[in-house]
Amino acid sequence: MIYDLIIIGGGPGGATAAKIGAEGGANVCLLEAADERRYKCCAGGIPVTNEDFTPIPRNVGEREITGGVLVTPDSGPMIFDTTGEKDKGYCMFRTDFDNFLLNLAHDAGAYVMYGFRAKGIEIAKFGDVIVKGTQEFRSKCVILANGMGGTQLQRSIGMEVPPIVNGIQAEFDIPESVVDEQFGNQVWEFFNPALINHGIAWAFPKREAVSIGVLGKNVKFTHFESFLQNPIIKDKIAGRKMKIFNGRKVWAAPIPDRMIAKPFRDRVMIVGDACGTADPILYEGIYQARLSGKLAAEVFLQALEEGDFGEASLSQYYDLLLTYLYEEGLRYSYKFHELLYHSGLIDKIIEAAYLIAQEDPEVMKSMICLFTGTQTRKQIWKVLMSRKWKLLKHLGIRNGFHLLPALLRSLRI
Ligand SMILES: Cc1cc2nc3c(=O)[nH]c(=O)nc-3n(C[C@H](O)[C@H](O)[C@H](O)COP(=O)(O)OP(=O)(O)OC[C@H]3O[C@@H](n4cnc5c(N)ncnc54)[C@H](O)[C@@H]3O)c2cc1C
Repeated sequence: MIYDLIIIGGGPGGATAAKIGAEGGANVCLLEAADERRYKCCAGGIPVTNEDFTPIPRNVGEREITGGVLVTPDSGPMIFDTTGEKDKGYCMFRTDFDNFLLNLAHDAGAYVMYGFRAKGIEIAKFGDVIVKGTQEFRSKCVILANGMGGTQLQRSIGMEVPPIVNGIQAEFDIPESVVDEQFGNQVWEFFNPALINHGIAWAFPKREAVSIGVLGKNVKFTHFESFLQNPIIKDKIAGRKMKIFNGRKVWAAPIPDRMIAKPFRDRVMIVGDACGTADPILYEGIYQARLSGKLAAEVFLQALEEGDFGEASLSQYYDLLLTYLYEEGLRYSYKFHELLYHSGLIDKIIEAAYLIAQEDPEVMKSMICLFTGTQTRKQIWKVLMSRKWKLLKHLGIRNGFHLLPALLRSLRI
């Protein structure tokens, strides 16, 4: 049997592409290496903009999030409360969320196969694509949605792999009433360059659990252990136990740091983390994986109609990525990234921006939108840059002087 489309990987990127491909009438097969309901190491925080794709049922979006708390070594908790319906988000377990998305793909008509790891791909010049593993599958086109777990596969067909940072986290069992009281409906983000030079730490509350972790360049288990000693975290989790998934308490996983330059070739498109679409301000990638999966599926449906899966035809996917994900989004996230993570002043910038926001509602709104995604990264950047002299003044002469090289680099991106 020859499928119209094979998707490799059943995370949010792959599941979204499979649903849209199948809804468009294509014969779709999704191959997922893990068993059904696999655990995925992820803090599971998403803005409500994810509902642009599908409404999220209450039992999947475990905790509704209505604010954020920022903490630096010198300041905090700096609290942001949101009020608008569009400003909220959810914190959930990826096991439930990904299973929900895969069931939607299945209900739309896609064949979903668990426990199949693709080990090789063969692309015939004028023929089909053959996906090899414990058995072979054939299709007209392939979408690689393998996250950071299929780098070999990408390289084997001459495609680029994104650079990465590492994440380490554990989920703590905490009764719902205590989570309500200790963390509330807020995501907690910690910025401390002395702990992690190029990264962040977090506590994301779910209904009866809290995901606590660190991520960044060269992050190791010792960084995670140090974060657990942070006075705020230590106090809140005293006496609580880590949940165990597949026999493990602490999980580590990579996250991409940059988008690859060419996520397509004849008969192949790459979406989600495998394409490097995660947003490197707070390193969230679920929404971006879904959006790229949707765009790739739409380009595939067009190619199916025209019977043309050549490189020129699939290059439209990259054009759409630039329009919908990069030009007003990721490009400006890379500017923020440069400013925050390559200046050594992430904590000072956050503190200064928070102080400015106290007396400037437009800045307050934009800072909230950094979490909620209800303004584009471009809009938020414009608001911040229109106050750059204020920012430099708040940073003081010494820090302001240190910020300048990163500021100039970010303006050039
Ligand atoms: C510690 C941590 C915390 C995070 N927190 C957040 C957060 O709060 N919010 C947010 O938005 N993002 C977060 N992210 C990022 C988010 O997890 C990813 O951006 C998102 O999962 C990307 O989705 P994806 O579909 O591209 O890939 P994935 O979700 O990684 O899915 C890829 C799938 O492909 C399968 N696969 C891999 N290789 C093969 C193969 N050869 N054959 C078959 N199947 C294969 C894997 O088993 C996996 O199921 C976090 C990441 C980490 C590591």
